[in-house]
Amino acid sequence: VCTYKNGAWEMPKIAPYQPIVLDPSSKIFHYGQSIFEGMKAYKDKNDDVFLFRPLENFKRFNISADRMCIPQIPQEYFMDGLTTLLNIDKDFIPTKDGSSLYIRPFMFASGNGFHASPANEYKFIIACAPSGAYFSGKVKVLIEERYSRSANGGVGYAKTGGNYAGQFYPTQLAVEKGYNQVIWTDDTNHEFIEEAGAMNIFIRINDTLLTGPTSDRILDGITRKSILDIAKDQGIKTEVRKITVKEVVEAAKDGSLKEMFGTGTAAVISPISGFGYRDTDYELPELENSYGQSLKKIITDIQYNKSEDKFGWRFKV
Ligand code: PMP
Repeated sequence: VCTYKNGAWEMPKIAPYQPIVLDPSSKIFHYGQSIFEGMKAYKDKNDDVFLFRPLENFKRFNISADRMCIPQIPQEYFMDGLTTLLNIDKDFIPTKDGSSLYIRPFMFASGNGFHASPANEYKFIIACAPSGAYFSGKVKVLIEERYSRSANGGVGYAKTGGNYAGQFYPTQLAVEKGYNQVIWTDDTNHEFIEEAGAMNIFIRINDTLLTGPTSDRILDGITRKSILDIAKDQGIKTEVRKITVKEVVEAAKDGSLKEMFGTGTAAVISPISGFGYRDTDYELPELENSYGQSLKKIITDIQYNKSEDKFGWRFKV
């Protein structure tokens, strides 16, 4: 726990997991000045603990902080906070296949006042919880055209609370129709595939693996960029470009759509079994050797220290 007061961060301290007392006029409650990150700690068979590219989370955290007018956290507070906490919580890191310790660094406006302007006090907290696999089974998604997650010039690239609260209602409607998640499309003409609720999206058409470009509107996923590097290294043809909903629907119809999967820290790689678009459902084939499966094995072997770390992504705690 660390507090920003009088223009500076105070010394961080370790505290037991406990409720936070806040003034009713704290700006977090009214103006949603909050950001977070999602990370995991992995334990190998020797009980050594690893993080995956933690400096990427640190950098993105401060990119989100800038966008939400929250003071940046110094790198040593973020990194030392993680390592100190993980040394204390080491015995709570589960080792069952696919499980890990989920880590949630977050910052919010604890400063008070009803005026709609940035607060003068903030809290930075890192909290952890053991976690298993994110989705069990395959994911069925709905391509969304009515609602938007984000807009050009908006806050879509920041990991801020409102981006998620705004997804709850459209996702609830999709779940009522029998889907697990929504695939967001751009806010202009709902023409391009953007991302899912907490995952970036990859689409395989024939042998080419596609994902959309980063922008103001999507979260620059750390799993996304890692999967792109691994895929290239594996000799898989990748393309980072705008993907139209139209081409995906056409590829589903003519059989060239082979795979879709989501990537994220929590989700790792989640295969998508089918998608709904304008009242029609499209099924994806069950592949014996999917890109998703082989890429998932490579990335999790790196994360759990089961393979050589050829990209230099593992961080030993
Ligand atoms: N998009 C959104 C909206 C997310 O919340 C996440 C999860 N952080 C991702 C994509 C995937 O990002 P990452 O691979 O860095 O976890």
